[in-house]
Amino acid sequence: MRASAYPLIDAGEAAELVLERTPVLGTETVALADAPGRVLGEDLVGESALPPFPSSAVDGYAVLAADAGKSLRVLGESAAGRPFTGRVTAGTAARILTGGVVPDGADVVVMVEDTTLAGDLVTVPSRLVAGSNFHQVGADLRPGDLILRAGTQLGAAEIGIAAATSHARLAVHRRPRVALMSTGDELVEVGKTPRPGQIPDSNRWALLAALREAGADVDVLGIAPDEAGALRRFVTGALERVDALVTSGGVSVGTHDLVKPLLEALGTVHVGRVKLKPGKPFTFATLDRGKVAFGLPGFPVSSLVTFEVFVRPALRKMQGFAQLQRPTLQVRLGYDARPTAERTEYQRVMLRREGRELVAETTGSQSSSRLMSLAGAHALVRVPAGDQVIRAGTVVEAMILSLP
Ligand code: AMP
Ligand code: MG
Repeated sequence: MRASAYPLIDAGEAAELVLERTPVLGTETVALADAPGRVLGEDLVGESALPPFPSSAVDGYAVLAADAGKSLRVLGESAAGRPFTGRVTAGTAARILTGGVVPDGADVVVMVEDTTLAGDLVTVPSRLVAGSNFHQVGADLRPGDLILRAGTQLGAAEIGIAAATSHARLAVHRRPRVALMSTGDELVEVGKTPRPGQIPDSNRWALLAALREAGADVDVLGIAPDEAGALRRFVTGALERVDALVTSGGVSVGTHDLVKPLLEALGTVHVGRVKLKPGKPFTFATLDRGKVAFGLPGFPVSSLVTFEVFVRPALRKMQGFAQLQRPTLQVRLGYDARPTAERTEYQRVMLRREGRELVAETTGSQSSSRLMSLAGAHALVRVPAGDQVIRAGTVVEAMILSLP
């Protein structure tokens, strides 16, 4: 059969191949309101100092440290947004509010709690340290400082700092537009009652969720039948509009498995089989104009695990993320992990805290059709190919999906 002609590639090698051939998408400029979650496309450099003026940290009086212990005449007030325009000189003070500009001449702000006021005379403590109780110009940022690096995902603090430095719009990477297609004559729309032999198209919804979480903008093509001509018609129009194609089903070795020949016809297949469990039939191709295509296996767990291992990092590369991979942590196995000969296996586990350690317990049967093995899983434990059982108690590396 045709598909078996593809060489079995090592899982790590296949992942590298995918990333090498996945392009980084260009950038667009968006308003801050549209920036959350996006990835910065260029280094953000400060043009001015932050704070831009010496700014009081407290309510009190701006004075000269040399006037410690004296009663000083209050000349006026510097409130936030309404600076005192005069100068504080020896023997004088200006009332100041938090965020107010420290007036020229003053070198210290005294907290109101430490003063006594009688008429227009304020008495300050006998020990004052110049520079206290206000933020110096440029204390947070100096002009020319690197604020945020390209590849940073924009969260609340990053958007806050961009706003504070007067950046109303930001250059961010384009989000990948992905066409998602399910294949299989046995599939029916979720919600319809399956007739004998039919199953709901669950991969569409699982992959839609996974794609969105990874930052993609998804164009759902629906269910394509197991017929070469129809399959091709399904994708051709869609390919014009997208950066990537993700399919599920139709990649294993069987007469109804038409996705590999389709991708061969549309472009170049670089990965056709992987030493991976679950997910051996995973297929990766490049199409024209820098587009990429991922043929995921039909088994629900296989499609999501291959999504994690290959597709998610690729989508993150497209978006310019500095960090492509999920974080990993060392965890202690709470069960005997049986490896598979010749194939790297990603076993689904729940994590539990035990003292300072994380202990991994299997989610049960690791069958590639059993989505329950992935539902609620905190991590994927990478079990290298081999024939030696990895005993409970061994510390292994886990790809973290969420933490308990
Ligand atoms: P295939 O890769 O097409 O041979 O499919 C392998 C297995 O996954 C079969 O049992 C299919 O019925 C099942 N499958 C394929 N596509 C989907 C889908 N979209 N949703 C749920 N199960 C699927
Ligand atoms: Mg099929």
